[in-house]
Amino acid sequence: MLIAGNWKMFHGPDATREFLSAFEPPDGVDVVLCPPYVSLAAALEGPIPVYAQNVHWAHEGAYTGEISAEMLLELGVTGSLVGHSERRHYFGETDESAARRARAACDAGLRVIACVGETEEQREAGHTEMVLRLQVEAIRDALGGAHEHLTLAYEPVWAIGTGRTATPDLAREAHAFVKSILDVPVLYGGSVKPDNAAELLSQPDVDGALVGGASLDADSFTEICRAAVAVRS
Ligand code: PEP
Repeated sequence: MLIAGNWKMFHGPDATREFLSAFEPPDGVDVVLCPPYVSLAAALEGPIPVYAQNVHWAHEGAYTGEISAEMLLELGVTGSLVGHSERRHYFGETDESAARRARAACDAGLRVIACVGETEEQREAGHTEMVLRLQVEAIRDALGGAHEHLTLAYEPVWAIGTGRTATPDLAREAHAFVKSILDVPVLYGGSVKPDNAAELLSQPDVDGALVGGASLDADSFTEICRAAVAVRS
């Protein structure tokens, strides 16, 4: 069971050190933190594995504002998110570019959490499975199958940062569908909080959680990690 905290554009280096001094995850669960780039070095001062929030596919080059897998590895970073819905929505990330990032990162030796998920409009139009299929197949085809460094995160876009959570049934169905295309661990993401974590994490095919807002506070993130341990014991 993996619990990943995506800090989005929150917590600079000082706030990162403050978080680490208060965060005491229990044993029995894998935890990773995904801080903004400027806080990676501060996060690496602590004992928790650190992931970036994005990674470019080239080793180096004229790509202003981007960071390569090799640079992250040199710093001591373990992995990276790719294809987060906020990257897709605000910054033009596509299924193809997300898949390219995932491939380069896995090849370089980083772990990857690749995010997929449908918008509310797509779900209401009955297109959820088609959208998930296209997203997951792009990653699968780029990596040539289930890479050992790859984890997927199913994050229905309508549940991210909204306080609306997928029902456990809906999450279970989506995870089973995703795994039928690419059989790797699948995290659930979308308004996971201390009070709903246990129910979501106890669903079959839910192998952990990608937590946004509730990972910013050391106490609430600790509670979610404890829920993960309780579910598995
Ligand atoms: C996320 O950032 O991936 C996320 C799921 O955010 P939140 O938990 O705030 O919905």
